[in-house]
Amino acid sequence: APLSLDPENRIFRSPMVREHFLPNDFKAPKIIAKLNSNENPYGPPMSAQKAVADSVKNGNRYAWKEMYDLIDKIAKKEGVTADHIMMGPGSSDLLEKVALVTFMNGKGNIVSADPCYMSLVQVAKSVGATWKPVPCTADWSHDLKAMEAAIDSETKLVYVCNPNNPTGAITKGQDLLDFCSRVSEKVPVFVDEAYIELAVGADTQSMVSLLTQKKNVIVARTFSKIMGMAGIRVGYMVALPTYLASINKITRGGMGISYTSIFAASASLDDNQFQDTTRKLNHEAKLYLYENLDKLGYKYIPSYTNFVLFPISITGKELLTKMSDKGVAVRSFDIQNKPWCRVSIGTMDEMKAFVGALNQLS
Ligand code: PMP
Repeated sequence: APLSLDPENRIFRSPMVREHFLPNDFKAPKIIAKLNSNENPYGPPMSAQKAVADSVKNGNRYAWKEMYDLIDKIAKKEGVTADHIMMGPGSSDLLEKVALVTFMNGKGNIVSADPCYMSLVQVAKSVGATWKPVPCTADWSHDLKAMEAAIDSETKLVYVCNPNNPTGAITKGQDLLDFCSRVSEKVPVFVDEAYIELAVGADTQSMVSLLTQKKNVIVARTFSKIMGMAGIRVGYMVALPTYLASINKITRGGMGISYTSIFAASASLDDNQFQDTTRKLNHEAKLYLYENLDKLGYKYIPSYTNFVLFPISITGKELLTKMSDKGVAVRSFDIQNKPWCRVSIGTMDEMKAFVGALNQLS
C-alpha cells in the first residue's frame, strides 16, 4: 500500500526510499525542510521560468533545431565540437543508457569507489553487471591505485563521481587526469560531475579536457544542481563521437527532452548571476551547518557539494523517523557498517529547522 497519497510527499512513495530507508508503517508528515535529494532550493532561475513560459506555445513542434542550437551552445562552453555532446532527461538517464549499451551483449563488471552514487549500484544491478566496489581512502577521495588494480578482464566500465556522492569529497584533479588517461586506454571511464560547479576552492577540475586528447572518457553533467532544475530534467554527456554513436544505436539521440526543457536549459546556461548566487548561498548555509555540527559534536566530512555527510549514533531508520516527525527530510546511509546522515544544503531557514531537529535527537 502507498505510504502517503499526499502529492506533496511523493518522495516517500518512491520505491527506492521505501525499500531502503523507511519502516513499512511509516506515515509521511508535512515536510518543511526537504533536505534529502541535494536539490537547489533557489531554482529554477527566473530566466529559465520565463523561457519556459515563452516557449510552451511552440510545443506542438518537435524540437530538433532547438536541441541542436542548445548542443552548439554547450559544445562551445565545453570547448569541444557538437558531435561530442549527447543530451538526456537528466544525467542519471544517460548513465542508464551507457550501462544498457555496455552490458546488453553480455556480463561484466563496473569498478567504482565505495561509497558512491547509489543509482550506479542500482543501474549495475538492473543491467546484470557486477558492481566491484573499491573503498575510498582515509580522506574519502577515490583510491585510484586500488581502483586501477581492481580492473580485470571482465571490467567494461569504470565509474568515478567527482565530487563524490554521498561523501561530498573531491579527488584531486591532476591525480584523476592521470588515472583517466591511463585507464581509458583499456576501458571507458564514466566521470559523473553532477556537483562540480559547486566545488568552490577545490583542487580539482573537469575531465572534459581529456576529450580533446581523444581519451575514452564520458563526462556527465546535469542541470539539476547548480542550475536548480531537477524537475525539468536536463543533462548531457561529453564523450568521443565514436562512443556516442555506439550509444545512439539504441537511443533516439537525445530527443528525450522537451521543447520547454531545451529553452529552460539554454536560458540557465547564460544565467551566471543565478549560478554565482547559488554558490554563495550554498557556501554560507554550509558554514552555518558546519558551525552547528561542531557545537553538537558531530564529525562531518568537509564537503565540496550541496550536502554534508556525518556519522550518527542512532540507526538510519530512527534518524529518518525522528527527523520527519519534525518536518525534516534527510537521507541515511550505512557506510563501513555504521549509520550516517546525509543532509542537503537548503535555505538558511531549512538549515535552522534541521539543526533544531538534530539538537533534539538524543
Ligand atoms: N549523479 C549524481 C552523483 C547525483 O547525485 C545525481 C542526483 N542525485 C545525478 C547524477 C542525477 O541527476 P539528474 O538525473 O537529475 O541529472
